[in-house]
Amino acid sequence: MRVTIFGTGYVGLVTGTCLAEVGHDVACVDIDQAKVEGLNNGLVPIYEPGLEPMVKANHAAGRLHFTTDAAAAIGHGEVIFIAVGTPPDEDGSADLKYVLAVARTIGRHIERPAVVVNKSTVPVGTADKVRAAIAEELAARGAVIGFEVVSNPEFLKEGDAVNDCMRPDRIVIGSSSAAAVEKLKRLYAPFNRNHERIVVMDVRSAELTKYAANAMLATKISFMNEIANIAEKVGADIEMVRQGIGSDPRIGWHFIYPGAGYGGSCFPKDVQALRRTAEQHGYRAELLGSVESVNERQKGHLFELIQRHYGGAVRGKTFAVWGLAFKPNTDDMREASSRRLLQQLWEAGAQVRAYDPEARHEAERIFGARDDLVLCDSAYQALAGADALVVVTEWKQFRSPDFARLRQALADGAIFDGRNLYHPDEVEAAGLAYYGIGRGRSV
Ligand code: NAD
Repeated sequence: MRVTIFGTGYVGLVTGTCLAEVGHDVACVDIDQAKVEGLNNGLVPIYEPGLEPMVKANHAAGRLHFTTDAAAAIGHGEVIFIAVGTPPDEDGSADLKYVLAVARTIGRHIERPAVVVNKSTVPVGTADKVRAAIAEELAARGAVIGFEVVSNPEFLKEGDAVNDCMRPDRIVIGSSSAAAVEKLKRLYAPFNRNHERIVVMDVRSAELTKYAANAMLATKISFMNEIANIAEKVGADIEMVRQGIGSDPRIGWHFIYPGAGYGGSCFPKDVQALRRTAEQHGYRAELLGSVESVNERQKGHLFELIQRHYGGAVRGKTFAVWGLAFKPNTDDMREASSRRLLQQLWEAGAQVRAYDPEARHEAERIFGARDDLVLCDSAYQALAGADALVVVTEWKQFRSPDFARLRQALADGAIFDGRNLYHPDEVEAAGLAYYGIGRGRSV
């Protein structure tokens, strides 16, 4: 099938590549000329496991094209995806300017019937706005061309996006058009082979499904962080509590890890946007408000533990920071907890030596050159001259450090473990002070 995808970010590029991988003919459009040029020269702008070789192979095979020429790309696709960003607006609601700009571009250039598929995460009612924007442009040029607007929210996880795209848990299609649903079923048939994964529903339910999924996941995280904070106060260990509740299948093991707060480009903005949508419809979403405020507080928790350890005297100290990305296996630092921590450390007059396996270039872009930040090439290099270690992202390579080496390297011998990677006994046996999240024995 001939497919066009607007936006070559985490969602658009992965989706386009996976569709090409199963044999579709995909044109990816972006307004970022440097990105498109890079992709045409084999430069993949994001880190996503498995993505780069797949992009190169499909590009070389002529099934995956990159262009800034929107008109030509619209001419190419019988299915046209919108996968551009929907960042938070000033009031927290989703800013639809990129989505609607693409809709207008489609309206201006479309020459034959197509199915327009919205993959961006957008508030309920956006499909109507996309439809209206396309129709307006068609009317302006006196064209009568049939088109459908379908909602097909994306559930891939950064860090495992290719795998999620190739083996999705479910594919949600929101549409009232049987023909459009049929077309998408054919498009997705290669990903839907051994059991039924496609869930067809009305457009509004599909739009809400995406927010419900992210809000549920964010709620689980904030819930566990809340219990972790209680555990810390009452002298209980959240890791024991986690093991005590996860075995209940009604609760489950997934997403019950306490930590330094959730970040990334989705949970924070999507919880906020869902709250705004509810407000706009006269409903106060109290639980979602709490999920957000617990997370905001949690992002400052590591710094609180540091302050507590040093009795507030952090000025002049040097902290090794392991992990800058908002989670492992990605280079994405949008809304990452590390950003809050670094800001707090700098404001308190501390120095940072940071290491992240993939996010170095993002950190350079975000922070620029500054005297109080050294970006290091390895985890152990970050320890040189450091007083204490803070673990912010749970990359696998941080899981089993040589604690004796850490003891030698860290002048103040303290570890602040924002992801509960270590066992307090093991760390303390090496002569280090240990602070985790919700590990009551450490207060
Ligand atoms: P991103 O910021 O990584 O990429 C967006 C891309 O769209 C950029 O390359 C930008 O240049 C391009 N763009 C903007 N306007 C354009 C236009 N008019 N024409 C062509 N390209 C244009 O965004 P992302 O992380 O891929 O997210 C895209 C959408 O998918 C968002 O709504 C997001 O909420 C949703 N989503 C993201 C994830 C995720 O893990 N990142 C998961 C599921 C859903």
